[in-house]
Formats: sequence, structure tokens, C-alpha cells
Amino acid sequence: MKISRYIVFIVFLLGCIISQAQGSADKLKQKERELKKKIDNIIEKRAGEIGKKPNKVFIRVQRNKWGSCSSKGNLSLNITLAALPEELLDYVITHELAHLLELNHSKRFWKLVAKAHPDYKKKRDGLKLWWVIVNNNELWKKILGG
Ligand SMILES: [Zn+2]
Repeated sequence: MKISRYIVFIVFLLGCIISQAQGSADKLKQKERELKKKIDNIIEKRAGEIGKKPNKVFIRVQRNKWGSCSSKGNLSLNITLAALPEELLDYVITHELAHLLELNHSKRFWKLVAKAHPDYKKKRDGLKLWWVIVNNNELWKKILGG
């Protein structure tokens, strides 16, 4: 009798844990869909200005950066960009798109970025702050799986 109660309790707990994990996975998927839409709009606008489109765009959980650009012309963007104000999201995407032309952080690269974001230095500082905010946020920690 007692043991069966324990079993019911354990099954109940497992159910809670599984449904919570499922909830986080759903939230992640939803964030990803919302983010994808915003990213597509910004890419359309900024790629037109820069004159080059990315090959593929990946949205990923990235532990140490907002985004990156590969030599194959693929962009990898962090799912946590979903937390950013639109102007900072725009800056990150512009930054990565500029790497399609300049795969470095040369003067020419920053000139490209500055065309779209004359205040890019301020935005870079803003991003550092947002990195701390997002990565210490309980909800995001849950979404990202701890
Ligand atoms: Zn860069």
C-alpha cells in the first residue's frame, strides 16, 4: 500500500518534469519562429543595401556569441537574439552580413557597418549589457536548458 503510493508520487513527479521540459522546448520553438520572421525582414533590407545575401541562415543556441559568419557565406545566429530590442538585432545582422564582404574587423569592415549604423559603437556597448542580462535571466536559462 505504502509502496504503491510512492510509485504514484514518483510517476507524478516524472510527469511534471517531462511536461516542464516539453514546455521549454515548445517555448524555444516559438521563440525561434518569431525570431526567424524578424531576421528575414532585416536581412532582406540590409542585404539589399550591402549588395550580398547570405547563403544559409541558421538559428542556434550559442554559448559565447550573438552570431557568426562562415567563409561559405552562412550566418549562424543565436536564439537569444529574440530577447534584444529590434535596433540591436538589426545591428547584429548587419554586422554578420558585412562579414560576407569583409571576413575580418578591418577599417573597411567597420565602414560598411557604419553606413547602416553610424552609432555602432554605442550598439556594441549595448550588446555587452544585453548579453549579461539575457544570460542571467531565469526564463532564458530555463529555455536554454540550464
Ligand atoms: Zn564580427
